[in-house]
Amino acid sequence: MSRFTPETIERVRDATDIVEIVSAYTDLRRQGERFVGLCPFHDERTPSFSVKPRDGFYYCFGCEAGGDAIRFVQEKEGLAFPDAVEALAERYGVEVERETEDPKAEEARRRRGRLGEALERVAAFYESFLWESPKARKARTYLIEERGLGEEVLRSFGVGFAPSAWDSVLTRGQQAGYSVDELLAAGLIQRSQRNPGSHYDRFRGRITFPVRDHRGRVVGFGARGMGPDAKPKYLNSPESEVYRKSRTLYGIDRARGPIARGGRAVVVEGYTDVIALHGAGVEETVAVMGTAITPEQLKLLGGYAEEVVLALDADRAGREAMLRAQRVAGSGRLRLLVAAMPEGEDPADMMQSEEGSNRLRELLADAVDLAVFHVRAILGDADLSNPPGRDRALDEVVPVLVGMGETITRQEMVREVADRLDAAPELVAGRMKSGGRRPAARPEPVGRVGDGQSQAPPRRRREPTQEERREAMMLALCMDAPDLSASYFERLGPDHFTSPILRAVFERLREHPADPLDGLGESDSALINAITKLQAVDHEPATREDLEFRWMLLERDRLDRTLRHPEGLEPADLVAMQKERGRLADAISSVEARGIGGAVPGPAAR
Ligand SMILES: [Zn+2]
Repeated sequence: MSRFTPETIERVRDATDIVEIVSAYTDLRRQGERFVGLCPFHDERTPSFSVKPRDGFYYCFGCEAGGDAIRFVQEKEGLAFPDAVEALAERYGVEVERETEDPKAEEARRRRGRLGEALERVAAFYESFLWESPKARKARTYLIEERGLGEEVLRSFGVGFAPSAWDSVLTRGQQAGYSVDELLAAGLIQRSQRNPGSHYDRFRGRITFPVRDHRGRVVGFGARGMGPDAKPKYLNSPESEVYRKSRTLYGIDRARGPIARGGRAVVVEGYTDVIALHGAGVEETVAVMGTAITPEQLKLLGGYAEEVVLALDADRAGREAMLRAQRVAGSGRLRLLVAAMPEGEDPADMMQSEEGSNRLRELLADAVDLAVFHVRAILGDADLSNPPGRDRALDEVVPVLVGMGETITRQEMVREVADRLDAAPELVAGRMKSGGRRPAARPEPVGRVGDGQSQAPPRRRREPTQEERREAMMLALCMDAPDLSASYFERLGPDHFTSPILRAVFERLREHPADPLDGLGESDSALINAITKLQAVDHEPATREDLEFRWMLLERDRLDRTLRHPEGLEPADLVAMQKERGRLADAISSVEARGIGGAVPGPAAR
C-alpha cells in the first residue's frame, strides 16, 4: 500500500468536522470555544469530555483519552490509521494523494480495484437472483424456514443465490467489460478440465455468502450447495490477489463497530451462525474461514477487541483449534475465552428456539478463560483412576497453570486440579514453583546452567534496558505510521538495536512495512509475539516529530556504544562522531524542552 502524502493527511484533518464525528457517539453542548459532553470512552455521569473544533482535538479529563478526528475514528470504529484517513477523506470529499509509487505497485492496485468491482457486481447479481428468481425458491425456503433467518438480516449480509447455469457470470462479466483473466483472478470462474481453453462459473446452484474485508469490500464468496448430495457442501473462493483466507473474518465489516464499542468479539464457525447471531442482536460476531484461527485474524480482532470469545464446537477438532489459538495469541494483550458449544449443535440452530437462544447467551456470558478450558480438557482426557495417570495429568497441567500468571482464577484452578487429582493443593503449588518440573525427575538438558537445582524458582524475566525500551518505542511508532516510517528504515540499521529480537523485528518491518505478520508461521512464534506486543504498546499517534526524536535517541545510543570502544577508530572519525554525538544531545534536549516526544505521557496514553 503506498503512503498518503503528508498534505493529504493535513487536508483530511482540516476538512473533518470533529464535532460532527464525535456527535455520532455522544451529545455535545457548546461551551464557549469548546463542546462538552459525556465521554464516549468511559462510563460517567458528569461530562468531562471536551472537543475543541478550532484545534481539531478531543480530550477527556476523566480517562485521558484524546487526539484528533483520525484518532477518534481509529478508536471508535476500530480502524487502522490509513483506513481511518481514507474513511474521513471519503466522507468529507478530500481527494487522496499518495506518494509516488512504482508503476508496478500502481498497476497492481488498479487491478485489485477492478477485481473488487467485479466481485461487488456479481454479489449484487446473486443477491437479486435469490430474492427475485423462481429458481431460487428452494434456497429462500431453506434460509428462512429451515434455518430461521430473517429476510432483513439476510439482505443486510447480501446473501444471494448463484444460478445453476454454467455461464451466468462468465457471460455477464464479459459483457460488463471484464476479461476472462480478470474473472479467473477474482475466483468467479474456473478453467474447464475437459475442454482446455474454455471456462465456466465457479459457483452454480448454490447459496452465496459474500465475504467482505473489514472495510466492507467483497473479496470472495462462501457458497453452500443445496440438497444432501451437494459436494462439497461448502465451496469457497480460491485464494487470490484480493482474497486471503487467513486474514479474513466473515462478518468483520458489520461487527467491527460493535466489537470496538463493547471490547468483545465472538468467534463462531459458520456463515449462518454469524447471520443468526447478528439477527438476534449479538452483533459482535464473526466467523473464521476454516477451523483454525490465524495470527492475522487475531491481529485484526486485536485492533478492536480486548476479549475474544471462541464459540466453537467442543469436539476434538474444535478444541485443538482453540488451543492453537492460545499459542498464536501468545503474550498479546487479547484475552481469549471459550464458550464450548454443546456437541452436535451450532449457534444458528440454537438461535431458532427461545430456549436455545437463552442457553447460547448464557454460554457466551459464562465463557471461561482459555487456560481454564485447557486445564479442564487435560483433566477430562486423562486417566485419573490410578496414581501414575494422575501424575501424568499433573505434569501436563502445571505448565498451563504457570502460564496463567498470579491470578485469583489460577488459585481457584489449583484447588480444582488438586481436588480432581486427589492431591494436596500444596503439591500442585510446589510443582508450579519448581517451574513445572518434578523434583529429581528426568535429567536436565546439558548446558543449562543453574537448572540442576530443581528447587530454584523459575527464572525471572529480565527487565528491558533503557536502550531496549527506546528501540521498542521506535519500532512501535514505525508500525503505527507506515506512511512516515519509510525514510527511517533507510536510516536505521541493525546496529541501532541491542536486542536481538527487536533487531529481527526491525528487519522484518523493513521488508514488510504494511503487514509485518504476513506469511509468518508457527516456527516464527518469537517474532510474532514480539510484533504483536509492539503493536499493543500504548502511545500517541505517531507524528513526524516523534519519529525524528526517537530516531535521534537511537542514533545517540549507537554512537555512545561505538565511542565506548574507540579502539580501531580513525582519529578523524572519532572526532566527527563526538561532534555528531554533541549535536544530537543538543537537539534531543531542545525537543524535550518543548515537551514533544513522549517525555511526558500524552493525553492518548491510557
Ligand atoms: Zn473518558
